[in-house]
Amino acid sequence: MKKVLITGAAGFLGSHLTDRFLKEGYYVIGMDNFITGDKKNIKHLEHNPNFEFIEYDVTKHISIDGGLDYILHFASPASPIDYLKIPIQTLKVGSLGTHNLLGLAKAKRSRILIASTSEIYGDPLVHPQTEDYYGNVNTIGPRGVYDEAKRFQESITMAYNRFHGLETRIVRIFNTYGPKMRLNDGRVIPAFMGQALRGEDLTIFGDGSQTRSFCYVDDQVEGIYRLLLSDYDHPVNIGNPHEISIKDFAEEIIKLTGTSQKVIYKDLPVNDPMQRQPDISLAKKLLGWEPKVNRAEGMKITYDYFKSLTEEELYKSEHKDFSNYTTK
Ligand code: UDP
Repeated sequence: MKKVLITGAAGFLGSHLTDRFLKEGYYVIGMDNFITGDKKNIKHLEHNPNFEFIEYDVTKHISIDGGLDYILHFASPASPIDYLKIPIQTLKVGSLGTHNLLGLAKAKRSRILIASTSEIYGDPLVHPQTEDYYGNVNTIGPRGVYDEAKRFQESITMAYNRFHGLETRIVRIFNTYGPKMRLNDGRVIPAFMGQALRGEDLTIFGDGSQTRSFCYVDDQVEGIYRLLLSDYDHPVNIGNPHEISIKDFAEEIIKLTGTSQKVIYKDLPVNDPMQRQPDISLAKKLLGWEPKVNRAEGMKITYDYFKSLTEEELYKSEHKDFSNYTTK
């Protein structure tokens, strides 16, 4: 039985990956310190003999008994609101955490896949974004703690690949959504859906002309799975190229949820990228991968998930806006 370590296993993507690897017949060691992860996401695995959970902060030295075939490093805050609340942890998990996991991979001779992000392209001047674009990131802006940690993560991963001959994979993840996202994480999909469910107006930041391209989680997981098993060690974009403005997206959510609320406009957060769309030609060519779930379908499943949350969960997660976003 192959053994895989997944960091951030109680998070949104980490928990979906955990389920996928268990389904594929792997033994999974999940690791999380619950800073942004949620015990609820892995509760169903409590008695699974092929799953083991270690509550741990990966920025500290990591020891694992026995062999490890694969490591997937998915531990990280992943929402702009988190970067403001826990900026140092965000930097540490991407830098020190990655360093520790690369060291572990080297010791165990494991193949390691690193979760990078479209954020390494910053506010992109090339559209759609191809893997050979170097990006446009403000190093000292509020999002810089995430963007630069992830850029460093890619650099150190390639250094271990070149210097130590480590087998590495780098996935650049574009906006992904689905069940198990945190309702209060401040990102646009949970924010709009939570607002609709609570009977609040939908908050659009800026004039809503900024674009995003949303990928359903099952498609994302399939892309990551194929990339891990491929023999390609340079970064690969995984996301859904179907782009939409935030304003049009709010209208879609209003229709889907049937809310009678309207949209209201708030200030655009500092360094909020104006456009984002993955060029997925490389993933198509290398992995024979492309997204299968269209937005209407994926949003419906996601809304059904948020609808199934308890009143307590719905209301404890007060919507947080970016009013404390620094302009410095
Ligand atoms: N956004 C919005 N209203 C919200 C939350 C987010 O208009 O309540 C906007 C945000 O400014 C950004 C886009 O939606 O332009 C996507 O934001 P998200 O935080 O989901 O992720 P990002 O792609 O910026 O990392």
